[in-house]
Amino acid sequence: MAEPVDHDVVVVGGGPVGLMTACELALAGVRVAVVERRTDVDPTIKAIGLHIPSVEAFQRRGLLPALLDAQRRHARELLATLPRRADLGRVPMASGIAGHFAGITVPRALVDYADPDFGAAWSRDMMPVSQQALEAILADRAVALGAQLRQGAEMVKFTDDGDGVDVELDSGERWRCGWLVGADGGRSAVRRGAGFAFPGTDPEITGHQAVVEFADPEVLTPGWNRTENGIYVYTPLPGRILTVEMDGPPADRNTPVTHAELQDSVRRVSKTGVTITSVRSATRFTDHARQASTYVRGRVVLAGDAAHVHSPFGGQGLNLGLGDALNLGWKLAATVRGWAPDGLLDTYTRERHPVGAWVLDWTRAQIALMRLDPLTESLRRIVGDLVATPDGATHMAKKLSGVLQKYDLPGDHPLVGRSAPDPGGRLAEALRTGRAVLTGPRADAGAARADRLVHVESDAPMLVRPDGYVAWAGTAPGDTAGLEEALRRWLGDS
Ligand SMILES: Cc1cc2nc3c(=O)[nH]c(=O)nc-3n(C[C@H](O)[C@H](O)[C@H](O)COP(=O)(O)OP(=O)(O)OC[C@H]3O[C@@H](n4cnc5c(N)ncnc54)[C@H](O)[C@@H]3O)c2cc1C
Repeated sequence: MAEPVDHDVVVVGGGPVGLMTACELALAGVRVAVVERRTDVDPTIKAIGLHIPSVEAFQRRGLLPALLDAQRRHARELLATLPRRADLGRVPMASGIAGHFAGITVPRALVDYADPDFGAAWSRDMMPVSQQALEAILADRAVALGAQLRQGAEMVKFTDDGDGVDVELDSGERWRCGWLVGADGGRSAVRRGAGFAFPGTDPEITGHQAVVEFADPEVLTPGWNRTENGIYVYTPLPGRILTVEMDGPPADRNTPVTHAELQDSVRRVSKTGVTITSVRSATRFTDHARQASTYVRGRVVLAGDAAHVHSPFGGQGLNLGLGDALNLGWKLAATVRGWAPDGLLDTYTRERHPVGAWVLDWTRAQIALMRLDPLTESLRRIVGDLVATPDGATHMAKKLSGVLQKYDLPGDHPLVGRSAPDPGGRLAEALRTGRAVLTGPRADAGAARADRLVHVESDAPMLVRPDGYVAWAGTAPGDTAGLEEALRRWLGDS
């Protein structure tokens, strides 16, 4: 007989992805605990915005008001850091830009936002919000939904015996759980401990990102700058500086970034004698690009940076990880609760691995375009010309915003595999339950699975999975061809 478990699922890592996974599991009634070694907020600048699929996900869980609140706070904080009035004219205005690719900007005026791919999206733009604010929202929600959040505790060891997983914390405490989720970041101990293969490419850059005060900021040029020594991006709001040097990865990635290291890097790359008077936060990064070849091994599952690492260029990492959490949450919950159809959890790797592989490509290509040699300069001019066309700008904006994200699911209808359109917001309302949604005229089709499915009266028949993606769509009101098969495939037998 299987040993009783203390938790259905233990999530290692209370970063954004671990917390989002815990929210999804708790929403579905799963007993989940999160182990996070930090007790304080990590102040370093990381993600500064959410792309369209992430914003949609928050809306579908009723978290949009909290997000908008965080966005307003973010704007107020930025305003509070306004530099001297004389510097204002030097602040590059990002409003005319839909994003960038290796510093090649995508002009918003050229993007065709009437393109149908943008049509279904809740918003067309990235929503600026700090990773720290996001983590606070998710931590509050996870606890409110009943997840146990254990901060200041480190997972030091685990054993998967096939029936469950024994987890050991640094306090000596031992927990038994049914499943272990490694959301413990790029250097994941869960990934290593469970023996996941992690193939990819080696790093070639050393990057620094920091928020600092300069004694003489006027010697720096705001915006994205290339010099013969590297690249620096200076944003006077709020004193944010990023440097990239192309002569190999950092010699030491474990020690904290020192004032001297940061100042040397900024001076070298900017070719100025600029002086940093204080450092508010600083981090070092590189461009390792690696991805676990499967995201599930036995009873151990990976999500977020634990499953894939890459450079931060393109602002994709957090959004990629949140997508993992949304895709995984309901599938793992269905497995724990016992109604998962055969192979449901396997679709997690099948659907998310290609999205991760695309992000790795997207970031690798940017590193290639950031090299400093004359051949790369030539290539940059050509890519720049293409991006400065309406088709090029529209393509890049779609890629950057995530609206092209589509899962390869069975079914011919063009909506299948895509984020569900929701013009009136009624679908989002129904998805707050964390259950799948059947839209269309009232029918008996879904009634037998009422514990995992809700109905929304509509003329457009669709089966929408709990993560908001279309699993089946009919061609006319009342069309139910293929619906029963889709219900069985995604929601199991009635
Ligand atoms: C400089 C920089 C800029 C970035 N900019 C962007 C951006 O603009 N847009 C974007 O989308 N993404 C960006 N990212 C990427 C984004 O920050 C990450 O993808 C995101 O943090 C991944 O979340 P996660 O929850 O998977 O991992 P993490 O945020 O790394 O969280 C993992 C957590 O696990 C905890 N942990 C680890 N091991 C253990 C253990 N054994 N026991 C207990 N706890 C443990 C850690 O303390 C940590 O809190 C950036 C990253 C960097 C470094």
